[in-house]
Amino acid sequence: MVLLLRYRSITINLTPLIPKSHKFHTLQSFRNPNFISTPKVSASSNNPTPTTNRSISDAAKFAKSVLFIPPGVEIEELTDDMVLPGSNIVIGPFAGHSQIKEVEFVKSSARARDCPKDDRPEIAILGRSNVGKSSLINCLVRKKEVALTSKKPGKTQLINHFLVNKSWYIVDLPGYGFAKVSDAAKTDWSAFTKGYFLNRDTLVCVLLLIDASVPPQKIDLDCANWLGRNNVPMTFVFTKCDKMKATKGKRPDENIKAFQQIIRENFKVHPPWILTSSVSGLGRDELLLHMSQLRNYWDQ
Ligand code: GDP
Repeated sequence: MVLLLRYRSITINLTPLIPKSHKFHTLQSFRNPNFISTPKVSASSNNPTPTTNRSISDAAKFAKSVLFIPPGVEIEELTDDMVLPGSNIVIGPFAGHSQIKEVEFVKSSARARDCPKDDRPEIAILGRSNVGKSSLINCLVRKKEVALTSKKPGKTQLINHFLVNKSWYIVDLPGYGFAKVSDAAKTDWSAFTKGYFLNRDTLVCVLLLIDASVPPQKIDLDCANWLGRNNVPMTFVFTKCDKMKATKGKRPDENIKAFQQIIRENFKVHPPWILTSSVSGLGRDELLLHMSQLRNYWDQ
């Protein structure tokens, strides 16, 4: 079976993910341990599938292998229109109010223990320098000045907290792999950013940004593997997906496919992923909706 995901002018052709375990959910996508006790799918093999349910049965097989299925969604109920366009993400009952009405810069912190003392949930945004992190944050909040705050000299190597709608945080983390940063600064990055991931109880999910206009980068894969090994829930957000005609090298869809292939080899279950472009707005509303379901589930 081959999955074709179409979104506007982008088509990604994926062969199915073969999970190394038969869990139906991406357990590492939610930090709330209750997630593990979500209902199991009833075994259909003993019950011949009625003809009218054949497509549901196909969807179940398909879902088991490739989709991110959130809590509250029964695999038998899955339909195509529950999958966000340009992603492998199923939208479930926890998705809710997602638009950003208000955002305020709260604090820059040098260490995890300096971050705001607060029990509101947060979603962190991480990626290589130049991946398009500031552009994506500005696109999500529809403001120019937000990510500019974190680009001010001295703030790029800090953990920047932005309070959204007075109810949750976007956390802008320092970019990694910046060529001009000295080895000492790179070590600093790992020490304090890793400390943040391991100690921040209110962290719901990390959006790991991957530049779709370049082939898979070792540093991104290392980062994904590190997060995975440490049970930090992540979503891959492919940026710059509008760059359809690569001036040199491969097109975004080819780069994304190559990245997915490597992830499939390294991960038991594929984390959620979504295509975005800050230039065209591709994936913006879908990503916000996904963030809302992660948050709301965590919050309950
Ligand atoms: P950061 O260093 O990760 O914060 O990256 P920036 O947001 O500053 O973006 C780096 C470069 O990529 C800038 O030249 C942006 O204009 C460009 N860029 C960012 N997002 C997109 C996108 O979605 N599409 C295209 N074509 N270019 C982008």
